[in-house]
Amino acid sequence: MRIGIMGGTFDPIHIGHMLAAEAAYDTYRLDRVWFMPSHIPPHKQGAGVAGEERLQMVKEAVQSHSAFEAIDHEIRRGGVSYTFQTIRELQALHSGAEFYFIIGADMVNFLPHWEHIEELAQRLIFIGVRRPGYELALDELPAFLHDRVMLADMPVVDISSTDIRERIAAGHSVRYMVPDRVYEYITRGSMYEI
Ligand code: ATP
Ligand code: MG
Repeated sequence: MRIGIMGGTFDPIHIGHMLAAEAAYDTYRLDRVWFMPSHIPPHKQGAGVAGEERLQMVKEAVQSHSAFEAIDHEIRRGGVSYTFQTIRELQALHSGAEFYFIIGADMVNFLPHWEHIEELAQRLIFIGVRRPGYELALDELPAFLHDRVMLADMPVVDISSTDIRERIAAGHSVRYMVPDRVYEYITRGSMYEI
């Protein structure tokens, strides 16, 4: 079983995330992709939308894809969501599975700063995708990461959750920047005051 993990804050989930996951799924013939919202990401501060609502948006987003699913592992654990801890736990629960962690170029460049990155890089392979504004400088990564980061090609999408939140705050449309069901969920709810 080859399992991709698409981790993120997903505040909200958008089509950049979907295309990154699909590119990894397609390129590396993954069996499943698990979308996993973090509880509190180590590199972000301040309260965003509550975990349960971010999880619900992820569930809406993956609904139509038979190989994609939402997992609540980090939301349920609570606290700061360190990926090394999550992967230790998921590997203990699913022995025999091969894990692939899907990340955008900003996160690829940040990998050297992840907690216990050497252990994590032994446990899984990273699949990196391009993202506007970030150079994918693989040869500048520490040597132990060189054969642990593979690339997947996706149409570059200049969308971030920050940009979406700002558009909503300014009264602009984000239709088609997020999956339709997420758009409907956002317009029904009150977390972004659309
Ligand atoms: P924020 O602006 O709040 O940081 P974000 O759009 O960066 O939101 P995250 O939840 O932080 O979304 O990202 C989760 C993962 O998805 C990260 O690995 C990130 O690099 C990747 N990602 C996000 N947006 C894109 C995009 N447009 N193209 C490719 N990868 C992306
Ligand atoms: Mg981000």
